[in-house]
Amino acid sequence: MARIQTPNRVRGTQDIFRDDERRFAHVQSTFDRVRRLYCFERVEVPVFEDTQVFARSIGETTDVVSKEMYTFPDRGNDSLTLRPEFTAGIARAYITGGWQQYAPLKLVTSGAVFRYERPQKGRYRQFHQIDAEILGAPEPAADVELLCLADQLLHELGIADGVTLQLNTLGDAETRDAWRAALVAHFEAHRAELSEDSLARLDKNPLRILDSKDPRDRPVADSAPDIDAYLTAEARAFFDAVTAGLDAAGVKWTRNARLVRGLDYYRHTAFEFVTDRLGAQGTVLAGGRYDGLVESLGGPATAGVGWAAGIERLAMLLEEPVVSGPDVVVVIEDDAAQAEATAALAKLRRAGVSAELVATGSPRKRYDKALKLDPAETVTFHADGHAFRVLRGTGRAQAVIG
Ligand code: ATP
Ligand code: MG
Repeated sequence: MARIQTPNRVRGTQDIFRDDERRFAHVQSTFDRVRRLYCFERVEVPVFEDTQVFARSIGETTDVVSKEMYTFPDRGNDSLTLRPEFTAGIARAYITGGWQQYAPLKLVTSGAVFRYERPQKGRYRQFHQIDAEILGAPEPAADVELLCLADQLLHELGIADGVTLQLNTLGDAETRDAWRAALVAHFEAHRAELSEDSLARLDKNPLRILDSKDPRDRPVADSAPDIDAYLTAEARAFFDAVTAGLDAAGVKWTRNARLVRGLDYYRHTAFEFVTDRLGAQGTVLAGGRYDGLVESLGGPATAGVGWAAGIERLAMLLEEPVVSGPDVVVVIEDDAAQAEATAALAKLRRAGVSAELVATGSPRKRYDKALKLDPAETVTFHADGHAFRVLRGTGRAQAVIG
């Protein structure tokens, strides 16, 4: 007979199990709890969209669109793309679903996203994000609320120490055009010192040179002019309102004048929560204000601000999550007691008591197995069906079983 070849796990994907799963689930449940405190509602959007949704909203010149998307023709020859992020799909849904009538909207979602990248620690091809967005709120208080949500999430996960909020402003359209021109002039004057990637960015997306990770670019990027000299009074007032709000809420931040988001419709606030505990994959949560995005997809002029965080990167920063055993383990000493044990298990679980059954192996092994499950209470059944508590316990099981 031909030997069956076991298929491999696809490069850059993960099977999440045991301790990893507990960490993962802890991030998700904490996010769900905290977003309720801030009155954000949850939405689900499709895993795949028309390729145009991402190409137009993320932008053709970004790494995500130019190199990282999983794009394929479906059987009807439509070009589809697996979501590389959530914001674009949410903006598309806002338009196609007529969500404008509910604005301002405070939304969260989470799930798998896909990017064709070189897999390494903290970097996968299928990974998972939690995502928060506010649509239809142009005021700086919306930026503050989103940043408070992010900050509280990190605190409640117990990872806020060692994670820094870096904040910048990209100003308004007028500010940005003036700053962009100054940057291009600076980079043109230092063409010879720039990497090939940055030379390519110079024409299409010069702001991106500022956050280049290539060491060759750093001296030129670091000596580039700050946006501050170009801020209009309005843009300055917006940024001041955001920082004043953060200070009032007790959210710590630092200015990073080199922090940018590459696309033209990004405005005002840009931010990242960064740690040095994850090597090169140090950004755990990132976002900003994107007031032109919905319009760029053909929708009404709509303010927007949001962030996304990698669940895996947050999970890696967590302390060892506590593993707790079931409330009760039911041990059957003799098969004749099977029916009584089945009845007891059903009663326990219906009463909201978590319960596990141990009914195989030698009687001695059964007790060992029960102990290993680390229950709060153990109940045994003998041949005559009589139940009694043998290990430490609260008597809760007895009360339920009767
Ligand atoms: P990076 O600079 O690490 O590539 P990015 O700028 O591409 O990040 P965003 O598009 O802002 O990241 O995505 C938000 C968050 O999603 C990141 O801060 C990070 O936590 C997570 N993330 C991004 N790409 C990956 C990946 N390939 N694997 C795991 N997590 C990721
Ligand atoms: Mg990336």
